[in-house]
Amino acid sequence: MVQNTCLPERLYLDFDSFFASAEQHFNPFLRGKPVGVVALDSAHTGCIAVSREAKIRGLKTNMPGREARAIIPDMVFVVARPDVYVRLHKRILRVIETVVPIQHVRSIDEVVCELLPSEGRQGLVLAQRIKDALSQNFSPVLTCSIGMAATELLAKLAAERHKPNGAVLLDTSTLPAYLADLKLGKLPGIGAGMLVRLNAAGVRDFEGLWALAPKQARAIWGSVEGERFLQELHGTHAPRDQTQKRMFGHSRVLPREWRSPDKVEDCARQLLASAARRLRRTDLRASKLTLAMRSQRIRSTREKNTQAQSWIWEGQFQPSRDDHNFGRALSKGLGVARAQMRFAPGSVSVMLHGLEAKGDITGDLFAALSSDAQDQARWENVSNMMDELRSRFGSKALSLGKHEKVPGGFVGGKIAFGRIPEAEDFEDAPSEDGDTHFCSF
Ligand SMILES: [Mg+2]
Repeated sequence: MVQNTCLPERLYLDFDSFFASAEQHFNPFLRGKPVGVVALDSAHTGCIAVSREAKIRGLKTNMPGREARAIIPDMVFVVARPDVYVRLHKRILRVIETVVPIQHVRSIDEVVCELLPSEGRQGLVLAQRIKDALSQNFSPVLTCSIGMAATELLAKLAAERHKPNGAVLLDTSTLPAYLADLKLGKLPGIGAGMLVRLNAAGVRDFEGLWALAPKQARAIWGSVEGERFLQELHGTHAPRDQTQKRMFGHSRVLPREWRSPDKVEDCARQLLASAARRLRRTDLRASKLTLAMRSQRIRSTREKNTQAQSWIWEGQFQPSRDDHNFGRALSKGLGVARAQMRFAPGSVSVMLHGLEAKGDITGDLFAALSSDAQDQARWENVSNMMDELRSRFGSKALSLGKHEKVPGGFVGGKIAFGRIPEAEDFEDAPSEDGDTHFCSF
């Protein structure tokens, strides 16, 4: 494989302790203090982020609040505010883009930029320009680490190695020596399962990984993904096909008190409303709705993973994007569920799929004038108007039918890797940036 020692073509930017830094950014009282961010106000839940001050004193993400407090008695705990982080994320993107365009948002605190030769030639001056722009717009606690390299994978690895607040330009010609001490499990995409496979193939360290032939990598990964990984590692881009959006959906695990048919219906309607709002942010229409439920997995001592029972229903309709049509389909599915299901659901999921772009739909000329089509257009307007009101006054401001807080809260508002929720995904009226939610423990 040809080693690429010329200009860096990718810049990877990763914020340090993002949720904790965000809380410190919005509340000066928290700056310089060991801060833990938890999802719920309970000493038993793990910290989803800890500030650099806590990391220096030995704390790791995921440690339950109570254990963290035992190590650091003056630790301050706050409850996560996903909507605030998402708003901050968007402001951050705008600031980064004043220096260099973003190619992909990889998570709420990680982005990758494709560099032009003129940008690559600036080297670390470019990284510093981004950092300067950020510090002019945000407080100094909101730091990031930047890696520049031939490929996204190498740039990410470089950024990771210089945390917090680092900037590094990785020259491919320094490999594999430069990363020789990197543990294989620290590489993105190498989880516990892949580590076992690599070890079985005799690959135990970075140099061993580096020395693999493309064919071997493909065999170990069991797919072309292995070859892609190796290629990126050696400094050659291995682009993936753009994955097309195939569905909009949500699912929820139901606590015991949410398993009655009425509660299941309430939950399913809220999941649907959130999926529909996300669909309407695109120019797509859905023509299928799937409602699925699973029983809770029953664990016996002999068989660890007893198969859960499942039930699934799919409804079809004219390509739509309005709550009225979707709601009708869901009602049908729920009716079938009430008649057919023989187990108490432990989880429920609702998916809108069978997606078509607006332009792809070939309706006939007369159908467009029919009262059905006019009805649909009217319902679409109603849905659009409701979306707009929700975005202004919080999504609880109005809803079709009753609305009880669903288990886990924040329908659709979870920040998962790879999907940043939109402000409209959040259930409650927006939290004020400066309104820190201190924990009671
Ligand atoms: Mg980060």
